[in-house]
Amino acid sequence: MKMYTIPKEVESFIEKAEFGHFINNRYGGNMAKRYLEIINPANEDSLAKVPVAGSDEVDAAVSAARDAFKSPDWHDMSPDSREDLLHRLATLIEEKHETIAAILTLENGKLYAQAKSEVMSAARTFRFYAGWCTKMEGDLIDISLKQPQKKKNFTFLKREAVGVVVAIVPWNFPISIASWKLAPALAAGCTVVLKPSEVCPLSSIYMARLFEEAGFPRGVFNLVVGDGETGALLTTHKNVDKITFTGSTAVGKIIGKSAMENLTAVSLELGGKSPVIVFEDADLKLAAKSVAMGIFRNGGQVCVAGSRAYIQESIFESFLDMLKQEAESMNISDGFDPDADLGPLVSEAHLSRVCDYVEKADNQLRLKTGGHKQEGSGFYMQPTIFTAEDNNSVLASEEVFGPVLLAIPFSDMNHALSMANDSEYGLSSAVWTKDISKALECVHTLDAGWVFVNSIPRSDPNFPIGGNKLSGLGRELGKEGLYAYTKLKSVNIAY
Ligand code: NDP
Repeated sequence: MKMYTIPKEVESFIEKAEFGHFINNRYGGNMAKRYLEIINPANEDSLAKVPVAGSDEVDAAVSAARDAFKSPDWHDMSPDSREDLLHRLATLIEEKHETIAAILTLENGKLYAQAKSEVMSAARTFRFYAGWCTKMEGDLIDISLKQPQKKKNFTFLKREAVGVVVAIVPWNFPISIASWKLAPALAAGCTVVLKPSEVCPLSSIYMARLFEEAGFPRGVFNLVVGDGETGALLTTHKNVDKITFTGSTAVGKIIGKSAMENLTAVSLELGGKSPVIVFEDADLKLAAKSVAMGIFRNGGQVCVAGSRAYIQESIFESFLDMLKQEAESMNISDGFDPDADLGPLVSEAHLSRVCDYVEKADNQLRLKTGGHKQEGSGFYMQPTIFTAEDNNSVLASEEVFGPVLLAIPFSDMNHALSMANDSEYGLSSAVWTKDISKALECVHTLDAGWVFVNSIPRSDPNFPIGGNKLSGLGRELGKEGLYAYTKLKSVNIAY
């Protein structure tokens, strides 16, 4: 196995990572009551101990964000100055992307090449939203209010920053998902408290300093480190104007309820069980590579992973053989090994959750390939494919969040679409066909926030993402993702 030497800067940062929270442009937290151990999933080594924020730290972070929101340094900053700050931040992220990516691979296990592209995609998201700072718009409208003395109406709608935003992110793409929240929130003029996942907080802790270096006034960006309890303290906090959450549907429901309790605005990006439909007329070679990539990249720990493949009966066995070949040719190794195709899963607990699903499925369904974790140190799992006749299994309905694909044959388009839509989730979907009429009918009928035809679902800053049904509320990215951090003021002037 070829290996990569961890840069000295990364090693010296990891040694100091107990100074976790970042509030008012300062690191702190070395007096915490509780600490969390961060484990390298590739070899199970302990990487660092980080503090858990309790109510004192959460209150301090929210107050810092509230003060900064009211402060003229930020509140009255011109849009082009906000734009400059976001561009400067993007430049710093680009300059440091190898360091941030190395920390991400150490704590998360993902391939170093993919970690680098995740960090660079976050920089692109900050640049995309930098451009929006100077392009916020309102509307001039006509209304019919009768005014005394025959006065006329001058009426307009103005978009304003929503206020203090709490952003809670999961461990699978900690840097890019954070950027989907931070970039539009800051572009709109909000202030933010970010809480990364307890499993992968180090890359976010490192990145916090870049906000200060870029020149953001104190309190505009804050970070607290902690677990679900810290998350709950933030999402039930009464001094918060908006919660933006990405994570599981179970936690999303809890957050949705507490947001309603305080009438706090909320966006929820939740889980998925995304279908991929492969018709017999598709470019099957490309489709097989893409379906395999769609479920096995990042160890299947991807909210939009195509975990249910509906394959036309006439090509079912031959296409499955192609998928099997893709799965079995994957090189499972440490994320720093440049020849690796698949790194470890994020944690022992997550690996054991995925293995439980595989064990249950093994009693019910036909295993085509994989199905085992790798012996030795590290949390490695084989790419796994099961087949079934229909949707009547746990694997067809529940999100595994691992490298596990379920393949099911279909007879015709209606059969495929009815099985694809037969899910509590509605996040993403993909269709493979050369027939434009079939493709458009699928686009029309699939109940999902994303539909990709003849390509793998991937994000772009200008392409909104979000789920239907139990996959969430609201959209991120694009113009919609910016307006999610604004509130409308309706103004009437009688003249
Ligand atoms: P979780 O829902 O367990 O956690 C997500 C975040 O919420 C973490 O920061 C977690 O902290 C925090 N949290 C946990 N409990 C609470 C609580 N009671 N109140 C407030 N915050 C809390 O999800 P995972 O991190 O395990 O991520 C995987 C899930 O995320 C999958 O279901 C996946 O589908 C979904 N996801 C959805 C995406 C989308 O765009 N729709 C994108 C990526 C992932 P801690 O980790 O410290 O416990």
